Amino acid sequence: MKTLVIIDMQNDFLSHGALEVKGSERIIPLINQLIPLFDHVVASQDWHPKNHVSFAKTHGKKSGDSIFLRGRWRPLWKDHCIQSSKGAKITESLHQEKIEFVAYKGTDKKWDSYSAFFDDGGESTHLFEFLKKHNLFDLYFVGVATEYCVKFSVLDALSLGFSVFVIRDAIAALHAGEEEKKSLDEMKKRGAKLIESKDLFSRRS
Ligand SMILES: [Zn+2]
Repeated sequence: MKTLVIIDMQNDFLSHGALEVKGSERIIPLINQLIPLFDHVVASQDWHPKNHVSFAKTHGKKSGDSIFLRGRWRPLWKDHCIQSSKGAKITESLHQEKIEFVAYKGTDKKWDSYSAFFDDGGESTHLFEFLKKHNLFDLYFVGVATEYCVKFSVLDALSLGFSVFVIRDAIAALHAGEEEKKSLDEMKKRGAKLIESKDLFSRRS
């Protein structure tokens, strides 16, 4: 059955948020229009404790700096999506009634988590278990940000054997342009199908 996976549509990633993703506002009405087309809807929420490993301040650095940690360079961010804060809330403009499961990401101070499935330490958010339990194997991704949380969630979903669609006009990138294009190419190369929302609306009529 078709499941819509809404990635991180939280206040901190919208305009006036701590880490604005340009274009994130634009996709909200579209996601709201898509929701009724799906049998199931799940979502993810970046959900960090204070002094999280991904925050620049935690390391005495500036946002935009990187840190070499556990074998690779990792970008550092402004404080964002702190557990239970207003910024961490899913935007009220999004229709949330149909959301059956929320995957909370980056909840461990020591590990970041771009993926909605596992954190960098390999700990599961239980999204996989939820989808498997309900036999939901066709996943349609929307949300932010294309080159971070959308991409890593999509790649994990493919590795886990799901059939994966990315609704191209219902995602938004933090850095539109080259990085965005590279991420879309990578998802496609790994087996994700890039579609447009009109493909879904027209299929219905
Ligand atoms: Zn985060």
